[in-house]
Amino acid sequence: MKVPFLDLYSQHKPLETEFEEAFRTIIKSSSFAGGPVVADFEEDFARYCGAAHCVGMGSGTDALWLALLACGVGPGDEVITVSATFAATVEAIVQCGATPRFVDIREEDATMDPSQLESQLTDRTRAIIPVHLYGQPADMDPILAFARKHGLLVIEDAAQAHGAEYKGRKAGTLGDIGCFSFYPGKNLGAFGDAGATVTNDPAFAAKMRALRDHGQTAKYDHEFFGWNARMDGIQAAVLKIKLRSLNEANSLRRAHAAAYDEELAGLETLELPRQTPDTRHVYHIYAVRVFQRDDIQRHLAASGIDTGIHYPVPVHLQRAYSNLGYSRGSLPATESLSDETLSLPLFPGMTSDQIGAVVDEVRNATSATV
Ligand SMILES: *Cc1c(COP(=O)(O)O)cnc(C)c1O
Repeated sequence: MKVPFLDLYSQHKPLETEFEEAFRTIIKSSSFAGGPVVADFEEDFARYCGAAHCVGMGSGTDALWLALLACGVGPGDEVITVSATFAATVEAIVQCGATPRFVDIREEDATMDPSQLESQLTDRTRAIIPVHLYGQPADMDPILAFARKHGLLVIEDAAQAHGAEYKGRKAGTLGDIGCFSFYPGKNLGAFGDAGATVTNDPAFAAKMRALRDHGQTAKYDHEFFGWNARMDGIQAAVLKIKLRSLNEANSLRRAHAAAYDEELAGLETLELPRQTPDTRHVYHIYAVRVFQRDDIQRHLAASGIDTGIHYPVPVHLQRAYSNLGYSRGSLPATESLSDETLSLPLFPGMTSDQIGAVVDEVRNATSATV
């Protein structure tokens, strides 16, 4: 049996006529870039998250970048983040002219280790970007306490964590600004690139609204140096429809993850993802850890099971970031995650046969490579 890593069509098929109707509305209104449908989705997503404001963006990368700019981060400043993330988190910092400083992750959940923040603090530190990796929120309370103590802003990278919770509150609403990506494969995905920020601060929201539209606070009144980072009307229409089933899709992901947890428990060579007590994990990615990762991945591929690696080389060891002064050994927990992590297929429309096939082949692969 072939199992794809991700099957978006199984999720979109039942909504096809609804999408078509929404497209016709967009064609008739001609609001393609920004416009009323974007404003409508922003309202829905803010309400969903429990935030006062949502600002639609062209991508998750735009969201991170403009959030930092809205916080006043610029040349000479430092931002503390993790290297166990997609490169976009770090790109946004560099794009502002600021310098990224990395802390290592915790072994138990692969998110920012708050106890290491102190070691990276300097008098230039302005902000912290924790990443809710794989759909599980970072341990926000100690991060927020540290930030408050030192007058730093906290921007959450919630690109993988739509609907995830920390102590009953939604990811993205815990810090000063939360950043989301709606890249097609994310838990809430558009039909192309899109992103958004959420915040409870009206001043940050107003600034990000201006920045995404060439810094304009009124037509042809450029109060700030901005950029074009608007969300498309068509993407907002798709997202508005899909947002209604986000909770259900996340529950399905959690159920499939629970099935994996149960069926794969006790395999000696496999470490399963752990859900930390204060969080509701939304399993954007179901990442296991294995020592002979490449052999196991090859074995699974030969049996028709698609897998992924998130991420094979941490950001601090990427060539583009070699000037930051890190090397192998700088962030041991991050590096061992990169060496051992393996992402199994997980998407809302997975069938129990597909889950069964993955489980069988993972069992075969791990026993064959012991
Ligand atoms: C996807 C992702 C981004 C970037 O989002 P885009 O919409 O692709 O620009 C940023 N951070 C993390 C952790 C991501 O997974």
